[in-house]
Amino acid sequence: MSRPVVQVDAERRKLRRVPYADLVEEELDLGSATLVSVDVEDYYHEVPGGEEVFVRDGLPSNLARNTDRLLDLFAERDVQATFFVLSCAAPRVLTQLDRMVDEGHEIACHGHAHGRATWMKREDFREDIRRAKASLEDLTGQEVRGYRAPYFAVTEQSLWTVDEIRDAGFAYDSSVCPVKNFAYGIPDAPERPHRLRNGLIEIPLPQTKLLGYRFMVGGGFYLRVYPYWFTQALLRRRDHTLPRVFYLHTWELDDKRMNLWDLGVDLPGLHWKPRVMKWITTYNRRKALARFDRLLSRWRPGMPLGAVVRPHAPVAASTVDRRQSA
Ligand SMILES: [Zn+2]
Repeated sequence: MSRPVVQVDAERRKLRRVPYADLVEEELDLGSATLVSVDVEDYYHEVPGGEEVFVRDGLPSNLARNTDRLLDLFAERDVQATFFVLSCAAPRVLTQLDRMVDEGHEIACHGHAHGRATWMKREDFREDIRRAKASLEDLTGQEVRGYRAPYFAVTEQSLWTVDEIRDAGFAYDSSVCPVKNFAYGIPDAPERPHRLRNGLIEIPLPQTKLLGYRFMVGGGFYLRVYPYWFTQALLRRRDHTLPRVFYLHTWELDDKRMNLWDLGVDLPGLHWKPRVMKWITTYNRRKALARFDRLLSRWRPGMPLGAVVRPHAPVAASTVDRRQSA
């Protein structure tokens, strides 16, 4: 008689949403360095299917050139950075991957096909990140320790991702935004880097509280849309014991006309909030590189995220097994 009741309870437990705070083991002091990152992807990866359209239709691409421009900037400014590489695009930046290794940068993982985790099945996400990690390690001969989710899609709707990221063998993740907006964010997440109960280290993207609001700051759309003085004001106002994670996407160096909407591509994902998504991804691109350069010059020195995550950070059982059997 009691069996059906037990099954119902188990089902309810499975469906219950676990608040992010319950997953946090402890906050960490990883210093107050500037941690520089780049998401290596092209404008057509904005939606699922973009890579296939690029290959089929021969869309224009400046991915290799843009990656080189950032590598040149980092060489000039003596910055070491983390490149979160989208692995489906990696074969088009092989020369740049060699440069990253030779010039002391960290190569990390942005997944394979730029799926949005909140829209994906768990097993598809698992396959995507494991394939990407293995592929980047094959191409570079280096262990890939860091992961960043496309669209910062580690959110309250996709908390299962943190176990998948840990189980795939990553030591750290940098996807959580301690804000809430229409597309992403975990408003109760700590601003400070932290260790999750499953062992994964999370390095959140930076935000600053001002007038009761939390403002994301330090990269991408926010760097392009705020007046530069406002970015600097937010950074000065932040808790100076926290690291600053700066980030840029390689396509932000492109002309604003390089976007799927203006190129006349039709994919289902482009129908989701098309006007706002086009604005977010194209606004003020012409200022992105110069502003990123100013940030790097002001907040020196810049280093990779992996440099502050100790090598003995917990790794997944699967990684340990592979090493032991090697
Ligand atoms: Zn991305």
